[in-house]
Amino acid sequence: MSSLMFYSLAFFLCSCFTLSNGASDPNSIYKSFLQCLPAQSSKPDPSISTIVYGSVTNSSSYTAVLQAYIKNSRLNTTSTPKPAVIITPTKESHVQAAVLCARKLGVQIKIRSGGHDYEGISYISSEKNFVVLDMFNFRTVNVNIATETAVVEGGAQLGELYYRIWEKSKVHGFPAGIQYSVNWNEGDPKPEQNYLNQSRVLYKFMTEYVSKNPRGAFLNYRDLDIGVMKGTGKSGYNSGKVYGEKYFMGNFDRLAKVKTAVDPGNFFRNEQSIPVIPGSKSRKMTTLN
Ligand SMILES: Cc1cc2nc3c(=O)[nH]c(=O)nc-3n(C[C@H](O)[C@H](O)[C@H](O)COP(=O)(O)OP(=O)(O)OC[C@H]3O[C@@H](n4cnc5c(N)ncnc54)[C@H](O)[C@@H]3O)c2cc1C
Repeated sequence: MSSLMFYSLAFFLCSCFTLSNGASDPNSIYKSFLQCLPAQSSKPDPSISTIVYGSVTNSSSYTAVLQAYIKNSRLNTTSTPKPAVIITPTKESHVQAAVLCARKLGVQIKIRSGGHDYEGISYISSEKNFVVLDMFNFRTVNVNIATETAVVEGGAQLGELYYRIWEKSKVHGFPAGIQYSVNWNEGDPKPEQNYLNQSRVLYKFMTEYVSKNPRGAFLNYRDLDIGVMKGTGKSGYNSGKVYGEKYFMGNFDRLAKVKTAVDPGNFFRNEQSIPVIPGSKSRKMTTLN
């Protein structure tokens, strides 16, 4: 090994060590992001530091941004796991920079669009360090009545979609959002436990009347009770198969192949994401049957 190569390798290892070591508490992660984001932008972008919120440095705006899209009161308590940093991109290059920095710093990235996930996994995590990429600034709704289509950005809320459709047509609509929801006071574990138990009793009671062999579940009604990803490799895959086959049935295998081809390191992950097939390291897209 040439000495130049040795020093380059040593420098690379040192940088990784510093980053992963430095990124162990929320404030260091915040500072590392502030440093990293401009470096990932192709052009100088003075606005980039204004899209980063840290729980220590700008705690009141951090809390306001975090709570704005927590739709489930059960997940808005002092003991709810909180992201070290929230990034609120206003343009696509901010998204790219945030993803690259999360990868570089070795922290999990959660992406929040509307925050309506029933288990809140767009803004909480079972991992110690995580950041939230909050897409609420991307909320354009374009309705085309001639083609009866609408293009809706991820951060838009249903009310905005209904409104934009109503502006253009009195006969078109989009069926969604009719739900029964319960609320309880923040920080009071008793009613929470009571409501959760009632849901579980109803779930058990209804089991014999719903699909069997295979037993299915609707992904939009996320339910961590049907299983979560545990560990990596074989155990990650086996645990992912449990909920994956319920949500996606015969498509689960295809999704796992795609996941393995495009994200073999499982960078984009959550408690119920598609697992990587163990032992396959190829980054090439293969033909999917
Ligand atoms: C009151 C209420 C009414 C509802 N009504 C309906 C209904 O009528 N029909 C129906 O089908 N469902 C309904 N749902 C369920 C809802 O559609 C799902 O929870 C859906 O996931 C919400 O989207 P979101 O963008 O708000 O989710 P989020 O909570 O923001 O995200 C959900 C998941 O997707 C990931 N994610 C979010 N954005 C991105 C992105 N840009 N790129 C990659 N990953 C991303 C998140 O990390 C998370 O894992 C309802 C939910 C609620 C709370």
